[in-house]
Amino acid sequence: MEFNETVPTRFWAKVDRTETGCWLWTAAKNNKGYGKLSIHGTDHIKKLAHRISWQLRYGEIPEGMHVLHLCNTPACVKPTHLFLGTHQENMQDKLNHGRAHYTSSKFSEETRKLITSMRGARQSLNKIAAVVGCDKATIGRYLKKHNQYQPLKDI
Ligand SMILES: [Zn+2]
Repeated sequence: MEFNETVPTRFWAKVDRTETGCWLWTAAKNNKGYGKLSIHGTDHIKKLAHRISWQLRYGEIPEGMHVLHLCNTPACVKPTHLFLGTHQENMQDKLNHGRAHYTSSKFSEETRKLITSMRGARQSLNKIAAVVGCDKATIGRYLKKHNQYQPLKDI
């Protein structure tokens, strides 16, 4: 859906851009902790704040796709903390817990140590992903987030 021109101003006025990284929604939230905002358009309904944020930055959300959080913080609306996934991925993610598929913030302490030591031993992302049991992109994101990425040019 198209937003009218007042939406971005109203939207960003309700966001607290914290120094720790997440941009937190300060207005109404639903029972799962997701921010929401009334949009006065063709359909007078409340839209989820993180979905609005995605649309303001990147455009229309493809049919059937969900906007998911890299940071595991439902109230966060920072565009760079959001990514598109399917409902299935979302459910899979919730089921996996310690063996997180997309949200590296759910890695257990043990897994984090394993990733750090494997990368320290100059193992490739593919190899680490295979051992941890998630996809390569998740490992890449985790390493970048923790400044342990260091591209391995000779592998
Ligand atoms: Zn965040």
